[in-house]
Amino acid sequence: MKLHWQILLALVLAVAVGLVTGPDTRLFGLSLTAAYQFVGSLFMNGLRMLIVPLIMSSIITGVAGLGARGDLGRLGGRTLLYYMTTSLLAILVGLGLVDLFQPGIVGGQPAREALGLAPVPADLVARVQGKGTGDLVAIFLRMVPVNIVSAAAQGQMLGLIFFSLLFGYFMSRIEGEPARTLHAFWEGVFGVMMCMTEWIMRFAPLGVFALVTRVVATTGLGAFRPLLVFFVTVLLALAVHALVVLPALLRLLGRVDPRRHYRAMAPALLTAFSTASSSATLPVTMECVERGAGVSNRVTSFVLPLGATVNMDGTALYECVAALFIAQAYGLHLSFATQFSVVVIALLTSIGVAGIPAASLVAISVILGSIGLPLEAVGLILAVDRVLDMCRTAVNVFSDSCGAVLMARLEGERPLA
Ligand code: ASP
Repeated sequence: MKLHWQILLALVLAVAVGLVTGPDTRLFGLSLTAAYQFVGSLFMNGLRMLIVPLIMSSIITGVAGLGARGDLGRLGGRTLLYYMTTSLLAILVGLGLVDLFQPGIVGGQPAREALGLAPVPADLVARVQGKGTGDLVAIFLRMVPVNIVSAAAQGQMLGLIFFSLLFGYFMSRIEGEPARTLHAFWEGVFGVMMCMTEWIMRFAPLGVFALVTRVVATTGLGAFRPLLVFFVTVLLALAVHALVVLPALLRLLGRVDPRRHYRAMAPALLTAFSTASSSATLPVTMECVERGAGVSNRVTSFVLPLGATVNMDGTALYECVAALFIAQAYGLHLSFATQFSVVVIALLTSIGVAGIPAASLVAISVILGSIGLPLEAVGLILAVDRVLDMCRTAVNVFSDSCGAVLMARLEGERPLA
């Protein structure tokens, strides 16, 4: 059986088993939730341990190759333009739908009381307290890390990316034996990382089963009822972006058949869905785009590692919908200028947000702080956040992969041909 069918089967089984078992089921005295947690974490750790060497080696080899040929400016400029454009489109789709459906208004009244603010876990309060626009500045300040080792250790990918971009660029500026040695070394590291990815992915069906069963068993379906309209609004907006906007770009700009691209990307999309982390999915994304869609390593090694942190369409969309939903629930009418500032902050924070589960929650509190809403309101959406996180992460990864295909086309390649 092909890997993506195995993963899909695991997903279906996970939902069924999760619904049957619930959060407190025990088997021979062992908590099943703890068992799922263990297996799921093991799989996630396996993928995450590859991230630092993978991001460094792929960006360094990618940029060094481009730098040597003088292509860096062109590809870099186009890639950033793509990231900004698609994220903005995603936000506008979200804005349109949240204004249309008004999930925060129930029966003509702001829904705050009807929803009842869920109690906010203490650690969340600590994490989001005092986040304001100053935080936005801090995100970009971290882009130039004081210490590259600690940036890597703390998972601050923007810093690592910035360092790797510089390293790769200046590697193409030195000559002779040291240059050749460095090239061979980083290409070797990159090759090994890809092989390790392939091996870890053999365990994907098991990992996916554990991760998803745990979510279903602990969240259940009851959690969705009060937030149903919000939930559906986000899902619909994500679907419009991933099934209409991005495929249209693929067809119009890239002249490729989007259906073939979906098929090639299936394992990566399913992994993104199950792990809710675009960084953890990065190794799989790279493999699918190179082997499945046939994009050259020259393009993928630049576009994808950058995209996994910088380009998050689903996240940007979610931030905007969530912030406006909360504003609606509090009975706040946002002026055009405020909505515009929500759009801008959603765009900027989606660049700075890490590709890890629930990372958006912090960004949403930045937005709430900037429009003067109480941060506890984040608690409102916690119940449905995980499932929406899974969906928006898949959209994040899909947008990165479309970017790689489009950049490859613009560079004269023929992916998915
Ligand atoms: N989990 C998302 C990702 O990794 C980030 C977020 O929106 O929370 O892409």
